[in-house]
Amino acid sequence: MVKKGKAEAEPREEKALAHIAIIGSGIAGLFAASKLAEAGHNVSVITKQRPKDSSTNWAQGGIAAILDKTNQEGMEAHVQDTLRSGDGGCDEAVVRSIISEAGDRIRDLIQIGVEFEKTSDGSYSFIREGGHSSKRILHAKDATGKEIERALTAFARQHPNITLRPNTLAIDLIQRQHGNPEMGVAGVWCLDQETQNVVNIEADAIVLATGGVGRLWKETTNPDVATGDGLAMAYRTGASVDHLAFIQFHPTALATEAERPFLVSEAVRGVGAVLLDEEGLASWNKACESARKQGEAAPAPDPFSFTLKYTPEGSMATRDIVARAIDQQMKKHGTNHVYLITSHLDEPLSEKFPNIARRLAEEGLRLGEDPIPVVPAAHYMVGGVRVDDIGRAFVRERDEIMPHLYAIGEVASTGMHGANRLASNSLLEAVVFAERVAQHLIQHPPPPYIGTHPSWRADGLGALKEHAPIIHDRTSLVRTMSEEVGIVRSNQRLKRAKRRLDLLQKEVDMMWKGSLPTREIVELRNLCLIGQLVVHDALGQTENKGLHYNVDLFKDDTHEQVKPASD
Ligand SMILES: Cc1cc2nc3c(=O)[nH]c(=O)nc-3n(C[C@H](O)[C@H](O)[C@H](O)COP(=O)(O)OP(=O)(O)OC[C@H]3O[C@@H](n4cnc5c(N)ncnc54)[C@H](O)[C@@H]3O)c2cc1C
Repeated sequence: MVKKGKAEAEPREEKALAHIAIIGSGIAGLFAASKLAEAGHNVSVITKQRPKDSSTNWAQGGIAAILDKTNQEGMEAHVQDTLRSGDGGCDEAVVRSIISEAGDRIRDLIQIGVEFEKTSDGSYSFIREGGHSSKRILHAKDATGKEIERALTAFARQHPNITLRPNTLAIDLIQRQHGNPEMGVAGVWCLDQETQNVVNIEADAIVLATGGVGRLWKETTNPDVATGDGLAMAYRTGASVDHLAFIQFHPTALATEAERPFLVSEAVRGVGAVLLDEEGLASWNKACESARKQGEAAPAPDPFSFTLKYTPEGSMATRDIVARAIDQQMKKHGTNHVYLITSHLDEPLSEKFPNIARRLAEEGLRLGEDPIPVVPAAHYMVGGVRVDDIGRAFVRERDEIMPHLYAIGEVASTGMHGANRLASNSLLEAVVFAERVAQHLIQHPPPPYIGTHPSWRADGLGALKEHAPIIHDRTSLVRTMSEEVGIVRSNQRLKRAKRRLDLLQKEVDMMWKGSLPTREIVELRNLCLIGQLVVHDALGQTENKGLHYNVDLFKDDTHEQVKPASD
């Protein structure tokens, strides 16, 4: 039984309207804002760059949902696929409840103005992705997140109760009583990036909706705002975090030198694209050539895929399995990518995936014709701020709610994804938990904070004079995480990463204590902390499950699990 935090023990006499600060303007933050604002609350949405700069805006495939609440069979299949993907790590009750709410939340999104794709008969069009046993993913061509972000941002901009605060970088949460996390939070210090001043934003409750931390790795599908800020802020405030070892690497990011990363959606494999390595591609080409000479139809590429050595489901296995297969195959052959083959497909691919086709064309590649070079890339943070079933954060090492602090979306760890997130379940989880937090705050408006907020202490701090050390430290941090804390781990690598990160943390702390905050140093401080927490959690794992794979947890090639080595 969860104990209530002290500050929440006394409910408000009448349901007065509250000021809620939401940090983040992706699907989670904006959806919660819309619900709270409609109920009359006063909402500030604090966001680092432009409101649309978020992972949500880059989501391609879609949102998994069974719309018809009477379709028990469909819901049960979605539950089973999620549990299977989660590899024994999911909280089944959470999974069931999220999936059963999906239809209602999709209807909310549609009401807000999201336009999902329809078929010619006017019904919604569903696609399939890896790990799903049927077509159950709603989408808007191959730019679903952009459509969701468009509709939610438009809604927020016109709502009188929502204040959007772009270019505002949250730095740290303000506790109601300094050093006493059980008393909860009362605001957030932010860097106004236009004036470079630190401002206090006071709030009766804070909702973290800051997304993930893909930018800790060199290869990532995430936008540059994904630096784990919310998770780091929550941790420093005394909140509990969990499951941080479970970082999902998407198997098929485009292998490109371009600055902006690009994902080739799993939906492309959903319509039959196949992964081949250099060798498989050569053998398949040879087989096609010989079939052509004999006047026969070209063989399908599927049997030539290296993925079959790792799983009978081949290219359509869950992400953890496919990403690991690619990683191992690349290491074996010393290559830096494998290929996604689409030339055998009859589908009108450019029509179905116009966004992907356009971006490939920029790289001189034709969807449906050329082999597409792909590489696994850090994509999704499964763990995060540990929350209960209505999105409330916990005080670290205690089974106690931290009053007035909530976390939703990718920054939260709800129990939905277990050891490996099933494709297209994250937008769904985000919207369901955004609704729950909003409803909780509407039913139980937080008591106003009566007291003075401490101001940001800038005494003795000077402007950062040299930027080179920060850039150097960030490069070295990202290199360490990419080389030592990737898809396939070992005790030795994790320990080496720990030593490096501990040293780096000392450097960063020194810089932090001596200089006024800038975005560069705020992000570096957060990334470094999250790196340490990921390594700590990875070293603490005693078995290989889902996304966590440590070669030292295996005895031999039979992949029989053993106790971790003590070194
Ligand atoms: C390329 C790509 C494709 C994907 N495709 C799918 C898909 O098809 N289906 C699916 O379910 N999931 C998909 N995902 C995952 C999914 O998009 C994300 O998990 C989800 O959008 C997260 O939503 P969110 O609201 O939690 O965070 P985000 O959408 O990432 O929003 C986070 C917000 O917080 C802000 N922020 C961060 N730090 C601070 C700070 N310190 N101060 C102020 N603001 C801050 C950011 O600027 C941003 O506005 C994809 C992810 C990527 C990157």
